[in-house]
Amino acid sequence: MKIQIDEKSFEGRGVLGEIEFELEKGSPSVICGPSGCGKSTLLRLIAGLDEDFKGEISPRAGKVGFVFQEPQLLPWRSVRANIELVCNVDEACLIDGLLVEVGLEGQGDVMASKLSLGMARRVALARALVIKPEILILDEPFVSLDPKRAESLRKLTYNLISKHQLKALFVTHISQEAIQMGHQIHILGGQPSRIDKTIEVPMSADQRFNSTFVQTYLA
Ligand code: ATP
Ligand code: MG
Repeated sequence: MKIQIDEKSFEGRGVLGEIEFELEKGSPSVICGPSGCGKSTLLRLIAGLDEDFKGEISPRAGKVGFVFQEPQLLPWRSVRANIELVCNVDEACLIDGLLVEVGLEGQGDVMASKLSLGMARRVALARALVIKPEILILDEPFVSLDPKRAESLRKLTYNLISKHQLKALFVTHISQEAIQMGHQIHILGGQPSRIDKTIEVPMSADQRFNSTFVQTYLA
C-alpha cells in the first residue's frame, strides 16, 4: 500500500512533505522523529482521520485499527464493554478469543479502572484488532511501561501483526524499539518534515526478541 504525502499544512504552515513509502502485510514499518515533527499528523492522514493534504494514499479495502499512547478506556466499564463500543454484533463474538491472544484470558468482566497500564494497553490492542483491520496504526504504544512489560508487549504486538498479516505502522522515539518492531524505519527530519533516511532491518522474529542479537546489531 503506497503512502505519498506531497504537502500537509496547518494554517499555511507546512508540516509534512516529500514522504513516500509502502506498507507491507505482516512487516511493520516505524516512523521516528523529534517531538512536533508531524508523526501523529502522518498517522491521522493514513488512518483517513484527516483528508486535507496533497498527495496520494492507496485506497483501503478494510478498516483501520488505531492504538494511541493512552489506552483511552472508559474506566467505569468492563474490559468487554470497552471493546464492544467499537464493534458490531458479529465482531463481538471475537472478543473472548482476542482476549486470549493479548494475554487477558477470562478477564472480560474486569472493570477497566482496575487494570494496570500494561493490561489496559492489551485491551486497547484487542479493541484495535476486533474490527479485523487491514491496517494497524500505533502511536507510541509502549511508553511508561517498565522494561520487562514493554518487551513482552512489543513481542506480543509483533507476533499478532505477523499472525494476522496486518499492514502496521508505529511511532516510537526509542531506537531499540524501532529495530525490534520495524522491517523499515523511516526517519523524519527537516522543515517541513520529510523522510531523511530509511533503514531496512532484515532480522527474523527470533532475532528481534533476542536482546544479545539486538545489542550487537545496534553496536
Ligand atoms: P509528538 O512527538 O510530540 O507527539 P508529533 O511528531 O506527533 O509530536 P504532531 O502532533 O503531528 O507532532 O504535530 C506536528 C505539528 O503540527 C506541530 O507543530 C503541531 O503544533 C501542529 N498541529 C498538529 N495538529 C494541528 C492542528 N489540528 N491544527 C494546527 N496545528 C496542528
Ligand atoms: Mg504525536
